[in-house]
Amino acid sequence: MVVSVRSKPYIIPEYSLTSDLLAYLTCGLQYRYQNKGTLPPSMPVQLWFGNFIHGVMEEAYLKWKEEEWKDFPWEWETQIREIEMEIDKRMRSRGLYPPLNLFCSFTMETDEEKKGLCPDHLHPHKLVASLRAEKSINTWGPHLFPLIDDHEVRLKGLRDMPNYKEGLSRSNYYGVTGIVDVLSSVQLEEASSKNLIIKYLHQEPIFKEKLDNLDSDSYEIIVDYKGMNRPGVGSPSWQHHQWQVQTYAWLRSKQPEAKPVMAGILFYLNELHHFKKDLQELKKQIKNNETDVLPDKEEYKLITSWKMSEDMPIISDNYRNLRSIHIIHIQKPLINESLDNFDKVVSSIEGNILNEIGGKGIQNSWKANPERRTCDACDFKTFCKESDLIKEITVP
Ligand code: SF4
Ligand SMILES: [Zn+2]
Repeated sequence: MVVSVRSKPYIIPEYSLTSDLLAYLTCGLQYRYQNKGTLPPSMPVQLWFGNFIHGVMEEAYLKWKEEEWKDFPWEWETQIREIEMEIDKRMRSRGLYPPLNLFCSFTMETDEEKKGLCPDHLHPHKLVASLRAEKSINTWGPHLFPLIDDHEVRLKGLRDMPNYKEGLSRSNYYGVTGIVDVLSSVQLEEASSKNLIIKYLHQEPIFKEKLDNLDSDSYEIIVDYKGMNRPGVGSPSWQHHQWQVQTYAWLRSKQPEAKPVMAGILFYLNELHHFKKDLQELKKQIKNNETDVLPDKEEYKLITSWKMSEDMPIISDNYRNLRSIHIIHIQKPLINESLDNFDKVVSSIEGNILNEIGGKGIQNSWKANPERRTCDACDFKTFCKESDLIKEITVP
């Protein structure tokens, strides 16, 4: 009797643009420990906050849509806190626990005894994550929520596996995924003339030109949120976010209900509430001519003459908002370039996996990127041989 051999399961590896590909670009080794490890769940501060703020914005939109709370600003204690606790609960159920210096998840009623890193027992405390959540909702909610046509749209596409080798590669395809909010031209046209997002869009000459030459009667804009500051022009993050948005547009264009995607908007939500470290980074960007959003003369002086030992100067809402919104125009050549770049990232990840399967050990298999800022906020620095940083508590 011939016993048939069961063939290997056919698995197509799936990569999320943000939590896999961009995370790998930040540091491959951190990504490995984070995503593919058997370690207890732990999460780099930056990633936790990115997930949290994303969830908060989505949940806030739903509350707004259900007509529960239409008027802004929302109060932190009676409204926003409820959303934060819901998102924290959901993240915990996925094993993602908040860094205690970032978020107070205690309540007065049940956690009298606990203090964590809160200043006292009078919970809840509006720590870093909450300060930023409040600003994000109250700054962008009134302008953004009325423009959203479809929220949390799941995007998915298949690509040929780069450098496919039969018998060696895990699959001949890979999947790429993402989640976006979609704004439609219908909502954009109906919006109030005071809408800030519309104002910023119309200030962009490329947007106007594309609008004039559009051969469809409707279009879309895709939106994503970043729990970070606006990166410097030409920095790796700047470039990676360009690739991300162009790739999202490509993925969206494959969906039958999609209209032409004109632009992508990234919201850099940390710009809305600065701490000293953020201001120091901004000062550096301005002085080195690394930012595309410069302050006016007066604020320029205020920021560039400020020193860490001093109190922070007051920065105008106008400048904060401008820094927080990044409009990226969708262009065919850039889409192709971005897809090529992500193919290279997947090829690199797959190569690292094969190294590890081949027995090289984790730290020798995965490409580390020991940059000061990333290592500073990395939970794995205690045993990462690439990093000899002093262990300290950081905020994103
Ligand atoms: S400590 Fe630095 S090099 Fe090591 S895994 Fe973390 S980010 Fe990467
Ligand atoms: Zn507290």
